[in-house]
Amino acid sequence: MRFVYPQGKAKALTFSYDDGQVFDRELVEIFNKYGMKGTFHLNSGSLEKAGEEKGVFILDSEVATLYAGHEVAVHGVEHRNLPTLSKHQIIMEIEEDRKALEALTGDFVQGMSYAFGSYSGEIIELIKPLGIKYSRTVNGTNGFFPPADFMAWHPTCHHDGPLEKLGEDFLNVPDYIELPLMYVWGHSFEFGYKKDFSVIEKFCEKMCGKEDIWYATNLEICDYIQAIRSLEFSADGKRVKNPTALSVWMTTAEGLVEVKPGESKNI
Ligand SMILES: [Zn+2]
Repeated sequence: MRFVYPQGKAKALTFSYDDGQVFDRELVEIFNKYGMKGTFHLNSGSLEKAGEEKGVFILDSEVATLYAGHEVAVHGVEHRNLPTLSKHQIIMEIEEDRKALEALTGDFVQGMSYAFGSYSGEIIELIKPLGIKYSRTVNGTNGFFPPADFMAWHPTCHHDGPLEKLGEDFLNVPDYIELPLMYVWGHSFEFGYKKDFSVIEKFCEKMCGKEDIWYATNLEICDYIQAIRSLEFSADGKRVKNPTALSVWMTTAEGLVEVKPGESKNI
């Protein structure tokens, strides 16, 4: 028996872009054109107000519409470096960002990326109870294993890394990697300052429209893998119970099996 992604998809691809600068508009357009799903980690304190635009960050009033179909996630109200703050300041930096972004999207905001990629075990213990389900680091692995710990979720690579080669490797990912995942991160201003989005556009064009790839947000992938980790098995491994609210999929000798929320079945 092996777990697979929803509807039996063999692998998952996701993106994570930080800071919410105006160049996100063009990046979202590219993602939408190619059917890619991403997560945008925003600093609610930097968002601009209509009528007072400085043209650096997106407007608070456009968050819900611009990122529709993608995920909006926390990056800290003021993009503070968490290890330099008091515990109370860390809590405020994360919790107030959640509140502000939830007010703007009308949705749950439960994902995060660490500003400057800075974190520690102590910081993780502080922010977990604030309702944060995962947080991304900047430590690229150049690999396709899902994270051991979602609170220190190491991406595959920055888009300036060996993106093209890794994309090729991912399309031919070896069988020993279970639930293969490619996770690309960066900042849209890295394209915007150069007025050149061709790196990401070429990548999306290469990776789009594949039957066996699940295009998903960071949170969708986190929720799905956590659902897998929550499954309960009989001692002989022949019966499975899904106590979660998500369907989980696996391949068995009989073929593709869906275990629905609340369902118990023989496998
Ligand atoms: Zn940042």
